[in-house]
Amino acid sequence: MSGHSLHTPENYPPMRKRNKAFDHAPTPKEYTKFQDFVAVLKKQVYAIQAGNAPELVPVKIGLLNFILPRMPRTQSKKDFGKQKVDKDKCTACGICSRVCPYGAIELTPKPVFDHKKCFGCWACYNHCPTQAIFTPKFRGEFQYAKPVAELKSKFS
Ligand code: SF4
Ligand code: SF4
Repeated sequence: MSGHSLHTPENYPPMRKRNKAFDHAPTPKEYTKFQDFVAVLKKQVYAIQAGNAPELVPVKIGLLNFILPRMPRTQSKKDFGKQKVDKDKCTACGICSRVCPYGAIELTPKPVFDHKKCFGCWACYNHCPTQAIFTPKFRGEFQYAKPVAELKSKFS
């Protein structure tokens, strides 16, 4: 088993608020390491397809990657708080409801949040085109500005 994580722009508003936007990630060095990983992965796949045993590759796990998956999922919901909608800004476009992976937003036609279903993933906050969704701590700022042109060009 082997794995690789790639440093990309941060899309978690509380981290962006702490100046951890990383909008220029991955760096050329990180990107080269990623390409090396893809090359190794391809080699493993070809070996398996040919009926051979894949080469054993030791997995190195960075401290952050070790800690983050162990954080309770409730932390994100706590960071988010209860979201509300600025009814003057909301155009009832429905994007927030479509991007919510937990079916926590009902359109009436403006969004109504089911806080019990919400996991605090921030997708609605990041995707609302008019920045109508707000929380006690976040209003109209620190949204992830979608894949920046620079990032797209690195992977094109
Ligand atoms: S995405 Fe924004 S503008 Fe569209 S319905 Fe949701 S809150 Fe309203
Ligand atoms: S934060 Fe995520 S789970 Fe909660 S309502 Fe918004 S999109 Fe749905």
